[in-house]
Amino acid sequence: MNDIVLTGDRPTGPLHLGHYFGSLANRVRLQERLTMYVIIADYQVITDRDEPGAIQANITELLLDYLAVGIDPGKATIFQHSAIPELNQLLLPFLSLVSMAELQRNPTVKDEIAHSSQSAVSGLMFTYPVHQAADILFCKGTLVPVGRDQLPHVEVTRLVARRFNERYGQVFPVPEAMMGAQPLLRGLDGGKMSKSRGNSIPLRATEDETAALIRRAVTDGDRRITFDEEARPGVATLLTLTGLCTDRAPEQIADEIGDGGAATLKRVTTEAVNEFLRPIRRRRAELDPAEARQVLRAGNDRARATAVGTLEEVRLAMGF
Ligand code: ATP
Ligand code: MG
Repeated sequence: MNDIVLTGDRPTGPLHLGHYFGSLANRVRLQERLTMYVIIADYQVITDRDEPGAIQANITELLLDYLAVGIDPGKATIFQHSAIPELNQLLLPFLSLVSMAELQRNPTVKDEIAHSSQSAVSGLMFTYPVHQAADILFCKGTLVPVGRDQLPHVEVTRLVARRFNERYGQVFPVPEAMMGAQPLLRGLDGGKMSKSRGNSIPLRATEDETAALIRRAVTDGDRRITFDEEARPGVATLLTLTGLCTDRAPEQIADEIGDGGAATLKRVTTEAVNEFLRPIRRRRAELDPAEARQVLRAGNDRARATAVGTLEEVRLAMGF
């Protein structure tokens, strides 16, 4: 069986290095040989905040990030939640397949509630892993390139697929998560690098902005640079970033810096990140936002046709 890839991001801000090494690099690789859908999860923006914010601008920026890293709209279907009613309708039968207790004990949901800017925790926050099951299963996705934080959600999707098939007959594949080179990249404050937590290095940042962000990163006073994720998380994060961007082991970079202290480490990291992102940033500057929007419209049409077919199958299987 040929795998079908589904993956995506919330349009809550610019994509960052965590996305690149957690998921984007795999997407660019997999699109060459597999059918791939990339979802812009716009409805999921309001899981952890009261309003969608600058949603149109964020969607355009996300599209530009995708195209800049090399997602090819000739090979991948890029689409958005809010344009595919049939996908969203899958949420109804899927919600009937999971219990409240299962939703409440999801560790990623708990973490996101802790970082939420919502006035109160909404029902959508608890149910969004099931919404993600609809995202993955509407196209019968089998392979999901994600970061580590998404593993509990892929588990929910697997549960939904298995239970649906048991109850109503075989309709869905049971998908697998695929993690990238760095399943959980830490941000400049030591927590998970996230768009909404102000701790990320955006792919589209300028070289000066990148330098300023890294200068502010939390490190320690020990001049001897060593790679120790437990005892020296700040230093380890910068070494990890440098290692990913130069394809070397963080320990080797630490040895090279030796007694150079945090200032040398930050200079080395800044150079490595800027060098790595230069071609991506150059491509991004050449892109036309109007063309990117056109890519989304075409992707929405293709994804909708797929969703119509799957919803029909689901309704038939359920006897509606
Ligand atoms: P937000 O703060 O708005 O939730 P985010 O940075 O967490 O944004 P998402 O859109 O939630 O980004 O996640 C998109 C994809 O990128 C998911 O597959 C997620 O696992 C992956 N990802 C996000 N952050 C990281 C990270 N720091 N390391 C590895 N993968 C990540
Ligand atoms: Mg997130």
